[in-house]
Amino acid sequence: MRKALLVVLFSTFVFSSCTRSAEPYTETELRMDTVCSITVYDEDDRTLISGAFDIIDDVVKLIDIYDSSSEIYHLNENASKESVSVSPELFALIRRAYDMSVLTDGAFNIAIGPLVELWGIGNGGETVPSAEEIEKTLLLTDYNNIILDEENRSVLFLKEGMKIDLGALGKGYAADRIAEYFRENGVESAIINLGGNVYMLGSHPEGREWTVGLQSPDTERGGYFATVACSDSSVVTSGGYERYFETEDGNIYHHILSSKTGYPASSDIVSSSIISRDSTLADMLSTATFVLGSKKGEEIVNQFSLQAVFLLENGDVKRIGI
Ligand code: AMP
Ligand code: MG
Repeated sequence: MRKALLVVLFSTFVFSSCTRSAEPYTETELRMDTVCSITVYDEDDRTLISGAFDIIDDVVKLIDIYDSSSEIYHLNENASKESVSVSPELFALIRRAYDMSVLTDGAFNIAIGPLVELWGIGNGGETVPSAEEIEKTLLLTDYNNIILDEENRSVLFLKEGMKIDLGALGKGYAADRIAEYFRENGVESAIINLGGNVYMLGSHPEGREWTVGLQSPDTERGGYFATVACSDSSVVTSGGYERYFETEDGNIYHHILSSKTGYPASSDIVSSSIISRDSTLADMLSTATFVLGSKKGEEIVNQFSLQAVFLLENGDVKRIGI
């Protein structure tokens, strides 16, 4: 998986050279299975960045389905037996992910956990499950079988073995929380790069927009296939080249799955980048549009009045709202 990790590391470039007198301060650490790099431009208080990494740790404790001490792990273990009350923070995230599942007719699927676990891509999985296993597992991925009770903030699964997976919004949510924390602490200019899921806080220290380069999936060639200009916004990318395994016959199986087929999603989109001030939303939509393909993907991006860049299979770059 080392190769996949490196791809994630470089999946987005931010052109951040600056002539300003204050020295920017950067820290890079491995978190959420990826390389996270945070740069603050205009605040001397260096403890702010360690506060930001603490926020990532908090988010992991909330939604990491593999960490037996996380809140979601506890929920997934118990919600088939009885309805489980969760924290307001987790309930709000589950609500958003559930609503996105309904809106995209399951292209984004909050209940995809059992299928993610079966394939195990990025988590040691290197073989294709049998058709029978896939068929059986798909029966556990119907989000309509998740019952949310707003009043008690509780969650119930109608089938034994169901699991909620918030992996498709986790980095976006962590970026939103860090951006909020930085704003509260007076930071006006920062880059929060969580494995290519990038939040450009405020504007560039030189007072102009940031320029973000979208990494070409072709790792042999490197470089970027497009740039986008933005300020106080996140750019979130989903692509099938981020985490995958390759079989001996040369087939590639990546980590974004279709709960219609049970296999890695296949559309005309190779890489989908969404630009939004709301990074949680951008994260959900990057995954959803990758599954939906460019036609339906464009409709949904327009529905939210957002900007997006799709790299298509035929090499075309489709820009929406830009
Ligand atoms: P992302 O890289 O943001 O597109 O998210 C991919 C992650 O979300 C995977 O590693 C899974 O944990 C989860 N996932 C995979 N397929 C889906 C899907 N169709 N809907 C929601 N989450 C998914
Ligand atoms: Mg996503």
